[in-house]
Amino acid sequence: MHNHTIAELAAGLKAKKFSSKEITEAFLKRIKELDNKLNSFITVCEEQAHKDAQIADAMLAKGNAKPLTGIPIAQKDIFCTQGIKTTCGSKILDNFIAPYDATTITHYKQAGAVLLGKTNMDEFAMGSSNENSFYGPVKNPWDLNRVPGGSSGGSAAAVAARLAPGATGTDTGGSIRQPAALCNLTGLKPTYGRVSRYGMIAFASSLDQGGPMARTAEDVAMMLGVMAGFDTKDSTSVDKPVPDYTATLNDSLAGIKIGLPKEFFNAGLDANIAKVIEAAIKEYEKLGATIHSISLPNCELSVPAYYVVAPAECSSNLARFDGVRYGFRCANPKDLEDLYKRSRGEGFGAEVKRRIMIGTYALSAGYYDAYYLKAQKIRRLISDDFRQAFSQVDFILGPTSPSTAFKIGEKSNDPIKMYLSDIYTIAANLAGLPGMSIPAGFVDGLPVGMQLLGNYFTEARLLNVAHGYQQVTDWHKKTPENF
Ligand code: GLN
Repeated sequence: MHNHTIAELAAGLKAKKFSSKEITEAFLKRIKELDNKLNSFITVCEEQAHKDAQIADAMLAKGNAKPLTGIPIAQKDIFCTQGIKTTCGSKILDNFIAPYDATTITHYKQAGAVLLGKTNMDEFAMGSSNENSFYGPVKNPWDLNRVPGGSSGGSAAAVAARLAPGATGTDTGGSIRQPAALCNLTGLKPTYGRVSRYGMIAFASSLDQGGPMARTAEDVAMMLGVMAGFDTKDSTSVDKPVPDYTATLNDSLAGIKIGLPKEFFNAGLDANIAKVIEAAIKEYEKLGATIHSISLPNCELSVPAYYVVAPAECSSNLARFDGVRYGFRCANPKDLEDLYKRSRGEGFGAEVKRRIMIGTYALSAGYYDAYYLKAQKIRRLISDDFRQAFSQVDFILGPTSPSTAFKIGEKSNDPIKMYLSDIYTIAANLAGLPGMSIPAGFVDGLPVGMQLLGNYFTEARLLNVAHGYQQVTDWHKKTPENF
């Protein structure tokens, strides 16, 4: 059961080969047996999953099922779930039971999907390795001594180990694409505004986007169809019709123009990863694509610009965690100031504190112009680079991550090294563009992801380009041994 894709499970449900109850029980059993090796779930929603499966089976019996009805989905623990603990990977929310559902959760509920559990993540989605979680690091199913990537590392590990057929992630600087790459998954970060952020705990609001992670582009297309759409509760969500993302998956790729940014293939890229990406480019040529060399001259500034903008926004967003209204409160506070100081001091982890301090500094009078305004100007230059590139090509192709999965502990004491894990992914967030990571091969037994970036709201075509590649390759079908 667990080796089926979402599309296969949905077809089996429709054909009455099995019920949602059977699928759900199979995945819950795998989580019970195997997640002690991975730590990919913070909360397993056994009771809720059984309830949801019952509702789904009734919908299927009545013939009013939707594409994801009866499919178990793991939700990143950043999405608020009514009545179920939502921690965002932080001690400060360890006791937080959300009083409402995030729009993404509502959409999955309305689709008849099953809530399997809430996945582990870097605290407040800050990280590239999942080592920053209050609930401990997540292990990569391809090698248990290595990280799954972050911050959606729990979602990535769970899907890669077949503990869930699909999971949600959020991507502020690469947190869907980088863990997808490190765990051999297909992940999509939508255009900013395509998926509602309501009830998705905010890290950096102008960059955050939720999106799907699964094994195939087809599964990702099915999930995006559920997640996308206008939401009156999120003023940055865009009022644009949601296409059927599965309808155009098989369109021809003949004549498609793919751009290779010369800055993505420089000395910082591991030579073996470069070889894998070059082989993928050849596949695209065989499918009829034409390859063009392009330049994104300002993208080398994306990491420094991001590490001003993201901390600035997080310092403001995380001000709400004060120990008063909800979340962790320190024991026996002397007075109000002591309560604030110790609740935040004891509730937040080291990386979150580092970001709040950097952000507060960058926004303070006298430094605002020098740091924050400068970073915003760079952000515009990066958007302009992409605008120029998309006047020449349809898609941009390159590596997702400069290295394969690294060892747990290898970069955790060197923040700059860790921050550079996102060197190829961050620019898309700064510009608000959609991007995907797709399995493209292996180096020393570890998965390599290829990144595809498209122009605004080209998700359907991006998925078509990814699906076309998955029809002629089988990297996405490889399973980690022991899972
Ligand atoms: N790794 C980046 C960071 O630490 C991006 C995280 C994300 O996309 N949520 O901020």
